[in-house]
Amino acid sequence: MKSKLPESPGLTECLEASGGTRALRAGNGVYREIPALLRAEYGSERVFLVADENTLKAAGGEFERGLSGAGISVAGRYIFPGEPRLHADYDHVKTLRQKIGTAGAPLVPVAVGAGTVNDLVKLAASELNLPYLCVPTAASVDGFTSYGSAILKDGYKQTMACEAPRCVVADTTVLSRAPAYLASSGFADLAGKVCAGADWIIADTVADFGAKGSERIEPKAWAMVQHGLNDFLTRSAAAAEGDEEALRVLFEALSMTGFSMQYLRSSRPVSGAEHLFAHIWEMENLSIDGNPVTHGHKVGIGSLAAVAFMEIVFADPSGPPPPPSGFRRPSPEERAAGVLAAFAGSPALEGVLKTSAEKFHDEKSAARISEGIRDCWKELRGKVLEQIIPYAEFKALFEKARCPVRPAEINLSRAAVIACARRAQMIRNRYIVLDLAWDLGCFETALARMEESESYLR
Ligand SMILES: [Zn+2]
Repeated sequence: MKSKLPESPGLTECLEASGGTRALRAGNGVYREIPALLRAEYGSERVFLVADENTLKAAGGEFERGLSGAGISVAGRYIFPGEPRLHADYDHVKTLRQKIGTAGAPLVPVAVGAGTVNDLVKLAASELNLPYLCVPTAASVDGFTSYGSAILKDGYKQTMACEAPRCVVADTTVLSRAPAYLASSGFADLAGKVCAGADWIIADTVADFGAKGSERIEPKAWAMVQHGLNDFLTRSAAAAEGDEEALRVLFEALSMTGFSMQYLRSSRPVSGAEHLFAHIWEMENLSIDGNPVTHGHKVGIGSLAAVAFMEIVFADPSGPPPPPSGFRRPSPEERAAGVLAAFAGSPALEGVLKTSAEKFHDEKSAARISEGIRDCWKELRGKVLEQIIPYAEFKALFEKARCPVRPAEINLSRAAVIACARRAQMIRNRYIVLDLAWDLGCFETALARMEESESYLR
């Protein structure tokens, strides 16, 4: 795999840039540092512990023993059931807010758990104006260190604004006890940054042509995510085998991407088309035997779909694929009708109608963007193909890291994953490769080529 230079800015520099999180410890035996961190960074000797039955078993005992031995009291605790798998539902945030609120200030809420427990505590603590401590039990997502919380509210998976954890303490022995699917989920979430980077390159390019949802690359946030990324992926591929060093690399790399979100106050550096596929499946509550498919596994299949789509769109050095025969750009009314059909019966419909109208490019704007892109096609194509990992290599990397690579592994048909691109293009005003294909008129051609392919998503 090609390596991306220069080197990553490193954890310390990322922490300094984050503006929110003050300390991150990842390694073996790091819980012993928690009492000192509580006193120094929070000025407190009381905590409120939140976990679920599984994470309590994995980490809670050691965590609590360490605290009581050092004069820190556990003022209260709330433990979610271990089964069925916990959802990041806003109702749980309300419960936590009430429980933590009545335990009596001052105290520090502590999230001992994987992504969902962390998202719930992060939002509840933020709504109570309390800085919290994050004690991850799995290297499962990039969201531990981000300022937002991914919560299901009003039928919509939304990133709700809230403060990042003040400190993060991840013991790699605890991380290694987590089920393998959590580490492979974290790996896939990290691998998704490859696609997110390509989408940002595209968004940066179309900013020249006044495209809606375009965004200039911010060099520092870019470096925090992209520099060293391929190296981190290679070094963390054994995380799902419980390899502690691979888990440390994975956790730190995911944390740095979270710090880039804190720094830019936006998820743009870490989230592109691959996450929009995942968001659609999150809205649909995609599950296997009643258990939700993890965020990372959805992002993983979304990443493979996104890279396939990019390879198809940028296959030809002379220009994008042609529009289908008889192609005509839809009017705003036809566009709205398409959205209505795609999201009929979904609680998200109203929001999607609004967003898709906001991002709609009329004939004139689309022509301007399309012309501009054709003029710089060679340069843009070169940058995107340099950024992504070729599909076959990307898939092999996922397989090595024990991530799903076929749609059936996350309970979807191949046709459903490909068709999902149409809805993924509607839900967010953030310019990505799907919007580019839409503006170039080659969106349906690209999907048809993906459908016909003997290799993509097989
Ligand atoms: Zn993610």
